[in-house]
Amino acid sequence: MVKEGFSEERTTAKVSIHKADYQVIADVIPEVFAEFPLPWQGKRILIKPNMLGPFPVNKGVTTHPALIKSVVEYLQSQNPAEIIVGDNPGAMGYGENERCAHQTGILEGAQGYYRNLSKNTIKREVKSTFVKSLVISREVLESDIVINLPKFKTHLQTRITGAVKNMYGILVGGEKARLHTIATDPEDFSRAVVEVYRIRVPELTIMDAVVGMEGNGPSNGHLRNINRILASNNGVALDAVMAYMMGVAPQEIKYLQIAQTEGLGEIDLDKIEIKGPLEQIKGFKMPISFGSRGLLGTMINKYFYSSLAKPHLKVKEKQCELCQVCLQSCPVGALELKKYPSVRRDLCISCYCCYELCPQSAIDFTGWQKFINLIS
Ligand code: SF4
Ligand code: SF4
Repeated sequence: MVKEGFSEERTTAKVSIHKADYQVIADVIPEVFAEFPLPWQGKRILIKPNMLGPFPVNKGVTTHPALIKSVVEYLQSQNPAEIIVGDNPGAMGYGENERCAHQTGILEGAQGYYRNLSKNTIKREVKSTFVKSLVISREVLESDIVINLPKFKTHLQTRITGAVKNMYGILVGGEKARLHTIATDPEDFSRAVVEVYRIRVPELTIMDAVVGMEGNGPSNGHLRNINRILASNNGVALDAVMAYMMGVAPQEIKYLQIAQTEGLGEIDLDKIEIKGPLEQIKGFKMPISFGSRGLLGTMINKYFYSSLAKPHLKVKEKQCELCQVCLQSCPVGALELKKYPSVRRDLCISCYCCYELCPQSAIDFTGWQKFINLIS
């Protein structure tokens, strides 16, 4: 499973793990490109970071600009036809894309190659359980090579979020919300994530695992120094390795099960060629919303998503800056602005978008869910 170097055979899923921090990342990235050679010259290349919302770099929510800068600098030396860096953030509304790029440092890391992917779109028929067509960023479909740059994080709904989930961002804002309102529970949403991923499978994934997130990711968890860069020619295999490092069997992650069944990648670590130091992270904390406590956790998770129990979410007024990101991002309009935003539980579909996207971490669990959060 773990090897010193990769074999010459190119179709096997390969994952490389490098020790790294943001100071030395510029030295690590050329090594990654040497392991996964692609014909860059004359190609149109899209770099797709994780730009979830308007979070500053030190929050560790979005792909670090140092990684983006190093990838751009390497590609500049390879004479491509075009380099584009861009994403569709979860936070919606006029000017949000540019604001997120600025706040996250991604604009600076992109060194002039940043583009708002929400402006130029294509409506395309898709093979999906939930919808007939989806609106996708044109740059994604028209690029010769896509390089995916996700973060190493947990996720309240899908348990982990890495390479596969990051490609959900090829959908423009309103489409993400529309699919969310149809595929609401964790199992359906996991299937939707895989169905979006297979629309444009990236050629290369380089994961920012220098600083990862544990607990209630993808934005309200705790930062964890992992000091790794992970790379792969297969995003599903890379996420399987990430799950293992978090202490979770890849087979327990619904979207990984579905992706493997759909033939998108291998999740059995014994069948993945892995190079570099593979270690489980001691005491890594998973999110509240799944079986972190075995059967009890699984039962709690099921209860969360039943029609009887919606999330108990409350805005912490002292922290709220009334930016209205939560109101703009709720796919079903379940938040109303009284003095502060307030969740209408009769409309809420338990997607946690408001919780994920609040830039001030001002939305929190309350009631018995807060209790579960504290003890899990
Ligand atoms: S809770 Fe307040 S700070 Fe957070 S997104 Fe909503 S309006 Fe903005
Ligand atoms: S209120 Fe929050 S959790 Fe409920 S549907 Fe809206 S965004 Fe999702």
